[in-house]
Order: sequence, then structure tokens, then C-alpha cells
Amino acid sequence: MAPPRGSQAPLEFGGPLGAAALLVLLPATMFHLLLVAGSESARILALPTSLPGLQALWSPRALLLCVTWLGLQAALYLLPARKVAEGLELKDKSHLRYPINGFQALVLTALLVGLGVSLGLPLGALADMLFPLALAATLIAFIFSLLLYLKALAAPAQDLAPGGSSGNPIYDFFLGRELNPRIGSFDFKYFCELRPGLIGWALINLALLMQEAKLRGSPSLAMCLVNAFQLLYVGDALWHEEAVLTTMDITHDGFGFMLAFGDLAWVPFTYSLQAQFLLHHPQHLGLPLASVICLINAVGYYIFRAANSQKNTFRKNPSDPSVADLETISTATGRQLLVSGWWGMVRHPNYLGDLIMALAWSLPCGVSHLLPYFYPIYFTTLLVHREARDERQCLQKYGRAWHQYCQRVPYRIVPYIY
Ligand code: NDP
Repeated sequence: MAPPRGSQAPLEFGGPLGAAALLVLLPATMFHLLLVAGSESARILALPTSLPGLQALWSPRALLLCVTWLGLQAALYLLPARKVAEGLELKDKSHLRYPINGFQALVLTALLVGLGVSLGLPLGALADMLFPLALAATLIAFIFSLLLYLKALAAPAQDLAPGGSSGNPIYDFFLGRELNPRIGSFDFKYFCELRPGLIGWALINLALLMQEAKLRGSPSLAMCLVNAFQLLYVGDALWHEEAVLTTMDITHDGFGFMLAFGDLAWVPFTYSLQAQFLLHHPQHLGLPLASVICLINAVGYYIFRAANSQKNTFRKNPSDPSVADLETISTATGRQLLVSGWWGMVRHPNYLGDLIMALAWSLPCGVSHLLPYFYPIYFTTLLVHREARDERQCLQKYGRAWHQYCQRVPYRIVPYIY
């Protein structure tokens, strides 16, 4: 019997066929990139000439490490939080509560890893285990999504996500049927969004840096920049953790394979590609070029942070002095839309900043290979698609007022270009 259809939301990602293709393509792309990054040619468009032995692809130790990592992050999630925040209003008018202790989890993880390394923990060895770790993380994401799907079959209709309850099992498994799956107060989606994957990404970068230092005597400037830029991004996301509660991942998308795989496997293992590339393909980076790259990252970060903070402040308190003078238009929902400041320049200034940073993360790798530019290319595609999804949702929410906003602010991400 087909599960009941929770909503008539339009199908996204190409419907069931698209979802089935992505179920295979996303993990396959990640595994391909991992193999290519460690190969001599590092050619993204070529198939690896030889496959490593089974031992280099799968190891029970990697599975154990992944499970331990998730257990550690779950334990840190359960520690007392500096603040407990309320999510947006749900269909039944209630609000869920979320612990704001992601940054605390990052700091405690750093202390534990620092202690471990000082006691002789061979962190750099992770660099040689990336493929088995990614395979274990994918397996965990798959089993986890299956359990979430089964749990969602028993969930009341009001708990289903607007998009992930089409009645097609493959589509719903991919998109996620239940909006906020929880056991007690433990929120699985919120937990996975910013912790195991993002902190894991920073840890993998550090392991690659340590391995480079072991192989070549000291870490390269290029590797240090990539580590510093991406740690800043991870730290920023966790410091502003509360902002995730208003993103479409939390408010609109169900928790299924797309987010579980994305959070637990895709982010840590493909976002660390630049550092992986640098370990196997050292690059000389002079100080003048390094300074220019730092400047590009700083500009990107400034736009990203300023735009996100402006909207978050405005949504929390429109009379806050920092946003009170901005021009707005009213909508039938009672909410307002900013039409001056950052959000008057383009409709997604935060995406623009994010993309500039993405470029700065790749530049330390030189321009000899396409592989380190996978992230900016993929991320541009993701943000263009995400912008279109958000646009559809905003049009539904705000109707005529959204059209008015689009007329006032015609460019989506890049002024005068797109
Ligand atoms: P956004 O932060 O861009 O928020 C979009 C929402 O903002 C809209 O749905 C609308 O919601 C509100 N909004 C839009 N225009 C206005 C306006 N003019 N005035 C007031 N409110 C407006 O959403 P995302 O979740 O896509 O992005 C959050 C951040 O995460 C971004 O910086 C993005 O770059 C980053 N990101 C990073 C990813 C990565 O893998 N590194 C992946 C995805 C995102 P409402 O009106 O209901 O408030």
C-alpha cells in the first residue's frame, strides 16, 4: 500500500527518476573524486587507471571510527547549552526547541583532539583512510535514511515535510518524509546539519595538514590557508548556529537521504578536496599571491556575514537600530521584505559572498588542475538551484509582494550579471 500523500507540493529534483539518479550519482561522484584526488594525474574527467585493493576501500576500523565520531558529537549535543532557541512556528502552531551548543561542541572537540595528539594519537593517519571512512559514512547515511523513512510511515500527517510525502517511496526516501524527526528532544536533522559533517570536515583538513607536515617537514602555506579559510567558515556556521533554524533545510525539507548523505558524507569528504589535492600535489605559493587570496576570502566573508546578519537581525527585530532605517515592502503575511541594504543589491547577497569564498579556497591550489575547483563549480550549481527553489517558495508565501521585490531588485546573485 502506498503511504498517504501528505501534500500536493510540486515534485523537485526531476521527480522520482531524478531522485533515483541522484541516489546513485552523488555517492559515485564523491568516491570518484576521492580516488582522483589521491592519484598522480588528479584528472577529474578521467577514470582512475587502477583501483586500490579492497583493504584501501573498506575497513571495519573506518566504520568503528565513524560510529565513535557520531557518538561523540551526539554526547556533546546533549551537554547543557548556553541557550535553547525556538524554531519557527509549525503547522499546529507549536514551536520546537533546539540547544545552541554547536560552537561549544567544536571547541570541546578541538580540546579532545589536541589532547589526543599530544598523547600520540596519529591524526595524520586519517589522510590514508579517507575512502573507507567515506564508504562507512555513506553506509551509515543509507541505513539511517531507511530508518527515518520507516519511522516517518507512522508519523502523523502534520509532521510530514511539504515536499517529501509524495507517496513515491524512492522520491520520499531521497527527499525525506518527516520534517523534524526526533526521539524525545533529540532532533536528528538539526544534529546532523552542522555538527558531525562540518566539524568532521575541519578535522579531515587538519589531518591532511599534519600528514603533509610529516611527509615534507612542515605544512605548506597553501595548506595552511585552505585550513584557516575553511575553519573560519565552520566556526562561523557554528557560532551563528541559531540562523540554521530559519533555513529551508530545517523549515521546509524533510530529513531523508539527501540531507543525511549530504551532511554526513558529502560535506566532509568533498569539501576537503582542496586539502586532499594539496597533500598529493604540493603547490608553491608566494606571499604576494597569498595576500591577494586572503583579501578575496576576506571580501567574500564580509559580504556573506554582513548579508546574513542583516537579514537575521531584521527577522528577529525589525526595529533594531542597525536595520530600522532600511527600506522595506509589506507583504500580505504581515512580514516585510528588505529592499535596501544588502538585500536591495541582489536577491541573494549571502550566496554571492559564499561563492567568492569558494573561489578563494581553490586558488591556493594553483590553476594546473580542475579538481580543486570542483567545489566552486558544484557550489555555483547548488546555489543557482537553491535560489530557484527559494524563489518558488517565496512566491508562494508572498505572492504579489514578491513580484514587486523582484522588480525592485532584478538580479538574483551577481549584480548586473545574474
Ligand atoms: P537564505 O539565508 O538566503 O534565506 C532565504 C530566505 O530569506 C527566504 O526564504 C526568505 O524567508 C528570506 N528573504 C529573502 N529575501 C528577503 C528580503 N529581501 N528581506 C527579508 N527576508 C528575505 O537561505 P539559505 O538557507 O539558502 O542560505 C543560508 C546561508 O547558508 C547562505 O549564506 C548560503 O550561502 C549558505 N549555504 C551554504 C551551503 C554550503 O554547502 N556551504 C549550502 C546551502 C546554503 P522568510 O521571508 O520566510 O524569512
